[in-house]
Amino acid sequence: MTADRLTVLSGPAGVGKSTIVAYLREHHPDISHSVSVTTRPQRAGEVDGVDRHFVNGETFAEMVEKNALLEHAQYAGHWYGTPRHPVERLLEAGVPVLLEIEVQGARQVRRQMPDALLVFLKPPSWEELERRLRSRGTESADVIAARLATAQIELAAEDEFDATIVNTSVTEAAEALVTLMRGA
Ligand code: 5GP
Repeated sequence: MTADRLTVLSGPAGVGKSTIVAYLREHHPDISHSVSVTTRPQRAGEVDGVDRHFVNGETFAEMVEKNALLEHAQYAGHWYGTPRHPVERLLEAGVPVLLEIEVQGARQVRRQMPDALLVFLKPPSWEELERRLRSRGTESADVIAARLATAQIELAAEDEFDATIVNTSVTEAAEALVTLMRGA
């Protein structure tokens, strides 16, 4: 594991990034995960402070103002950002850190930390991505339509990344990511 290196896992929503993160939390506890701050409403089953930090728009704006976020982006009508200090502290301590973020945020990390490893997670096909986004069941039709439109734009960003992993199976994709993080 290349400990002092930040890894970014990005790609369209619905591609399965969070499932891969859940797999890594269980099978590779040596990897640390950043907990994002967001203004989006909490979903059923999500734990504040574990899955996301849920804040209002005012608190989010204050964090941006204080430069407390390593990157931030608006996504489907809500704000998301990575708290800067926990990531910096972990990297200084030699702990490998993984960010699971959308494409605009990945670009900001690239500018701020040129050594970061940027990995793009791609669906096996557009049809598969559409099926996954529609079957989530927690979002309204409007939200799904916004996510599909954004996903099309995000898929075009693949070339900006250091590596691509096709999410054919969670285990294979997650282990491929670990191999990349190890610098193999
Ligand atoms: P969700 O609403 O499903 O939690 O996340 C929506 C999208 O925002 C996903 O593509 C997810 O990867 C991305 N995202 C989550 N946290 C962050 C963050 O801190 N920064 C950025 N730029 N994107 C994030």
